[in-house]
Amino acid sequence: AFDVLVIGGGPAGAASAVYAARKGIRTGVAAERFGGQVLDTMAIENFISVSHTEGPKLATALEQHVKEYDVDIMNLQTAEALIPAAVPGGLIEIRLASGATLKSRTVILSTGARWRSMNVPGEAEYRNKGVAYCPHCDGPLFKGKRVAVIGGGNSGVEAAIDLAGLVAHVTLIEFDSQLRADAVLQRKLNSLPNVSIVTSGQTTEVHGDGAKVTGLSYKDRNSGDLRRVDLEGIFVQIGLVPNTEWLKGAVALSPRGEIEVDARGQTSVPGVFAAGDATTTPFKQIIIAMGEGAKAALSAFDFLIRTVPA
Ligand code: FAD
Repeated sequence: AFDVLVIGGGPAGAASAVYAARKGIRTGVAAERFGGQVLDTMAIENFISVSHTEGPKLATALEQHVKEYDVDIMNLQTAEALIPAAVPGGLIEIRLASGATLKSRTVILSTGARWRSMNVPGEAEYRNKGVAYCPHCDGPLFKGKRVAVIGGGNSGVEAAIDLAGLVAHVTLIEFDSQLRADAVLQRKLNSLPNVSIVTSGQTTEVHGDGAKVTGLSYKDRNSGDLRRVDLEGIFVQIGLVPNTEWLKGAVALSPRGEIEVDARGQTSVPGVFAAGDATTTPFKQIIIAMGEGAKAALSAFDFLIRTVPA
């Protein structure tokens, strides 16, 4: 059995693993995809003391750092269930999709988050055929074409600014009556000649010709009119969903599905801690996920030295 078992291998999980292993305790990491969202990121310019790096480079560095310690890395493993210890100080079980069960005295949940989808007709059908979620990954595919960005929060407006430099035209569609992005981003967006902004717009359908996207329809929420935009690409930027479905009923989740943690990263289950984008901690960023991961590992260690094994 492990002393600390980390579920998830993104920035939070990697930080947890390094901090736990440095205490000389038996540490394991099980991750569906080591590196997490960082693998889908291009430029990173807010990781303090590193003025510029790229996602895949940072993901490799995360794994290398963990590998410098005696950590059992189990990549390509999906956790399916958490079974709390039967008695205080007992072992917590994690059941994997492979059928195997891992046991540990403490668990750190750091399963991160994923892009939210619109759930409108055509979206799933045309995913990767014009419907995209990662402008950094797929933006260049739409060079010289017309695209829409759905969502006027920071990620939507960032995506629109980013894409405007590559594509012919960007239509930004926001559901609310105003954009929700930081003022500095909105100023930048408004300065761009090839961006149109639609507010109070609810996307209702993705259109295609069977092979690829040809347009979208949205409802003008003020007039109720249905409008159609002809385009080749749609970037959906309407928020993140925590990867916590498998934890329902096992640990307390917020109404948004985020794992509820206290200031020490403790969840509702003794010996189970959590960190990063999967939790209620605000602001989903690499540096925050890493700090929270470190904190969860130190809390797990603190729990171990105060708990008599059952
Ligand atoms: P994640 O990175 O999501 O990692 C979660 C880990 O858990 C992965 O290893 C995943 O495979 C694993 N996992 C999930 N479910 C399971 C399961 N059931 N069983 C086992 N493993 C599981 N942040 C910045 O600070 N600066 C940026 O410039 C920046 N740009 C970004 C650009 C893009 C395109 C994206 C998508 C994100 C960006 N972010 C940026 C946000 C940043 O990537 C996240 O805040 C950070 O990765 C969160 O780390 P995490 O470890 O909590 O989760």
